[in-house]
Amino acid sequence: MITTQANCTDIVEPGLLPVDQALAKILSALPSIEDNEIINIEKTKARTLAEDIIASNNVPLHNNSAMDGYALNARDIATEGVTSFTVIGSAFAGQPYTEAISTGQCIRIMTGAIIPAGVDTVIMQEQVEIKNDCINIDHRHSAGQNIRLAGEDLPKGEMILQSGKFITAADIGLMASLGIAKVKVRRKLKIAIASTGNELINIGDTPNINSLYDSNRYSLCAALDRPDIEIINMGILQDSPEVLLASFKQASETADIIISTGGVSVGDADYTKTALKQSGQVDFWKIAIKPGRPLAFGRINNSVFFGLPGNPVAVMVTFSQFVLPAIEAMQGIKDKAKTPTLQVQCSESIRKRSGRTEVIRGILKQQTDGSYTVKTTGKQGSGILRSMSLANAFIILEHDRNTVQTGELVTVQPFSGLF
Ligand code: AMP
Ligand code: MG
Repeated sequence: MITTQANCTDIVEPGLLPVDQALAKILSALPSIEDNEIINIEKTKARTLAEDIIASNNVPLHNNSAMDGYALNARDIATEGVTSFTVIGSAFAGQPYTEAISTGQCIRIMTGAIIPAGVDTVIMQEQVEIKNDCINIDHRHSAGQNIRLAGEDLPKGEMILQSGKFITAADIGLMASLGIAKVKVRRKLKIAIASTGNELINIGDTPNINSLYDSNRYSLCAALDRPDIEIINMGILQDSPEVLLASFKQASETADIIISTGGVSVGDADYTKTALKQSGQVDFWKIAIKPGRPLAFGRINNSVFFGLPGNPVAVMVTFSQFVLPAIEAMQGIKDKAKTPTLQVQCSESIRKRSGRTEVIRGILKQQTDGSYTVKTTGKQGSGILRSMSLANAFIILEHDRNTVQTGELVTVQPFSGLF
């Protein structure tokens, strides 16, 4: 049995804020960013569209062949037996056939070539017998077959992408097919990231006996390395209420979101709360989640502030469960497909008390019969960042859930789209 942490913190404190309530409070307190920018469509992947896109013309522009074959008029095909047609010319994509086509005649036609006047049907070349400059076909063909109609992809005048859409590769292709070069999108969210702690050092600094390399800023910057975000890296801040206050205030002049890690516990050097109390609307919550219990949330001027815990796993867990949904909401995305959660058989037992959500790092694996199972990554301490590195999914043990027995179904949140 995996024990998520074998010490006295297993005793669930009364009065903790349940995860769903904390998230609801966060989402209800967010400003929406309405500023837009106009950029080349090549750069719009994963941005939020800020205008409706209407098809200015049909795509495809003309009826064209869906096959390599022969274009003819279905009316000329005899209802029984074989019919012979004379091949009088050829049409290629980008090189149409413009002469008249009479009864009993056909043209050779390639995929994408415009269907000329006087024909309405394309016969696949595999269904044709070629005899000199004639073709023979049987009677089993219907009018209109193998023709892509003008506007069947995008009909002129129709709204094809709505403002608020999360822009995908296919959307960029659609805009290109209409000849659109630039489009209006929401501007990038500016997110400031700071690590707090006197023990922290930067990569390249000489460590002493008390030092600890700052890893939180690296995992957060990597998780936020997305086309819709501009990161403001604030570096390491010392454990001093004055330093924190000045730095957070300065960040609030440019950032939409400020994220700090560390200093939100009840230790004597935990000054994030103190600094924030002086700078405006800040709530400090103890959330019924493990890992990640203490969290400061609020506003400094126009910035949203998240004071995440210091332990590296607690950082990534609270970031995924609270900060990421806030980012999505602030981006104004209306339709982004969420990574689905799965109900999966757990291949080991996990000790758990009801009264808090536990976010266990898991390895989701497909079995040879196609079904999935999940197991933990092993030790689950909130300082064991390796548990995140080994994992490909979170196992979410809900607030009221007790110990999971081997073989029970558990909720699994795959990392895809999360990190
Ligand atoms: P704190 O809440 O500030 O006491 O932080 C809790 C623990 O998290 C510290 O004792 C460190 O071990 C660890 N920690 C805090 N900040 C960082 C950081 N930026 N990178 C890596 N570990 C950190
Ligand atoms: Mg600290």
